[in-house]
Amino acid sequence: MRIGVDLDDVVAECAVPYLRAFADRFRLELPDEDLGWQTLARIEEVSGEEKDRFRIALYDGKFFSKLEPYEDCPTIVERIADAGHEIYFITARAERRRVVTETWLREKGLIQHARAVHLKPHGDFDPGVPPGRYDATSSAKYKVRLAKELELDAFCEDDVLIARSLAEAGIRVWLFDHTWNRDLAHPNITRVATWTDLATELGV
Ligand SMILES: [Mg+2]
Repeated sequence: MRIGVDLDDVVAECAVPYLRAFADRFRLELPDEDLGWQTLARIEEVSGEEKDRFRIALYDGKFFSKLEPYEDCPTIVERIADAGHEIYFITARAERRRVVTETWLREKGLIQHARAVHLKPHGDFDPGVPPGRYDATSSAKYKVRLAKELELDAFCEDDVLIARSLAEAGIRVWLFDHTWNRDLAHPNITRVATWTDLATELGV
């Protein structure tokens, strides 16, 4: 099988460290709930513009190089590759983040199991969306286009709009379960809680 694999909140926990850094920066108390991207969306004390500036500054710093892969991810990725499946890391991170992304994938023992690493080219960003704004629509288009070009059979994803777009394009999606995607259901979508779950699905 040819399998696309998203990075943030699929290979590594991203939303929670993001929120902790955000709360630190704006001196906010995070609510006592399962933290996720929905938590950020509900924070009204900080304007959209400030959120965008924070995102750019954070991503320009050491954030991506400090992320931790989910504990079972490297072992399972290795098993999937050893079973003969082709893994393509496909992230909506901007192409200019390639060095930090590939260095991290190498450090974590992941890159050698992948056929390729794809980041979102500049031309795939929607010029109408402010820089730094999370733009799931153009990311969904980018990932669907790539999934077709690479003739992927399946995709590991956590984002609702991206997962739905891939599923509607006929690609099988393993949806990594998170608080923000609980309501999503589609015949092409199978929800998995962990990489170990995915290993069971794939029989590896
Ligand atoms: Mg993601």
